[in-house]
Amino acid sequence: MKKHNFSAGPAILPATVFEQAADAVRDLDGIGLSILEISHRSAEFKAILAEAQQSVKDLLGIGDEFDVLFLTGGASSQFYMTAMNLLDNDETAGYVDTGTWSAKAIKEAERFGNIVKLASSKEDNYTYVPKGFDIPDDMKYVHITSNNTVFGTEFHALPDTKVPFVADMSSNIFSRPIDTSRYDLIYAGAQKNLGPAGVTLVIVRKGVAGKLKREIPTMLNYETHIAKDSAFNTPPTYPIYVCLLTMRWIKAQGGVAAMAAHNDKKAKLVYDEIDANPLFEGTTKVEDRSRMNATFVAKDDAHTAPFLEACAAANISGIKGHRSVGGFRASIYNAMPMESVQVLVDVMRDFAAKNA
Ligand SMILES: *Cc1c(COP(=O)(O)O)cnc(C)c1O
Repeated sequence: MKKHNFSAGPAILPATVFEQAADAVRDLDGIGLSILEISHRSAEFKAILAEAQQSVKDLLGIGDEFDVLFLTGGASSQFYMTAMNLLDNDETAGYVDTGTWSAKAIKEAERFGNIVKLASSKEDNYTYVPKGFDIPDDMKYVHITSNNTVFGTEFHALPDTKVPFVADMSSNIFSRPIDTSRYDLIYAGAQKNLGPAGVTLVIVRKGVAGKLKREIPTMLNYETHIAKDSAFNTPPTYPIYVCLLTMRWIKAQGGVAAMAAHNDKKAKLVYDEIDANPLFEGTTKVEDRSRMNATFVAKDDAHTAPFLEACAAANISGIKGHRSVGGFRASIYNAMPMESVQVLVDVMRDFAAKNA
């Protein structure tokens, strides 16, 4: 029986995407070949790549002012590629430290240029998103992690600045509309909200890359991938195809605005129960709560293991919290159906009725 998958990533994808992805492994659209065996230079794959790039633009409402790349190396490679490609040794970029992934991005970027930590919530175990800090106008860019997958916080508004943003949107890409005019670059590992592991989406404003004095290795240079339209070498063909299937699904649901409306309802259902249930409590500041990853703990740690057992008995998978927070994390990405969220809430209520 199919489980209710609350895993933080790799994570749930729409049921129809799993079916179509499986079909294409056997035979891609009736062409007599598997998606796994066709050339990345074939007409079929070129069409897939072009539609995937166009779908990213359609979903974000952007045009040719951005290039869309599908790269390998994970979001973790973007931690250094962004700074390596956008920041010269004598330039300054600001970073907001809102969690594990931000801290890793800062560590990698520090190899290039001058990195200023604008604000951090580390001293409070990243339970909130810092606000109201100063951003000097002469910074090249400001880097944020738009959703903090591990700690369960999210930027609900962008910091006030004219400086363009570089954002790690790995865990909330396409979960709601964004103002793309404020970004120079957006990156996202696919395996949270977009597709399988193995591909990273990079959306880079035209004219932003390729300006530095630094010598950049060919494969790490955005210019290489922009010039060759994301097919300089063999791109991750199957992960790109599955991302395309997911984006077709998002479009069919009504796009990112429809995703946002659905995501808000799911998040409200979970957080209302966390707040109402006598046995549980949230781990983050309420106003900064993530709509993608709801983190919570048992008020009495003696309830932690039995609640995980109750979840397992109800066919719920992937609910255990990250080791740095403990407790539980319900990842409720785009593809998570309301029915599964309701199952979780019912288990929480039932558990409280039996244990309060
Ligand atoms: C998962 C995650 C990463 C790491 O992605 P990889 O593809 O494993 O390198 C980076 N940033 C955020 C916000 C994430 O959720």
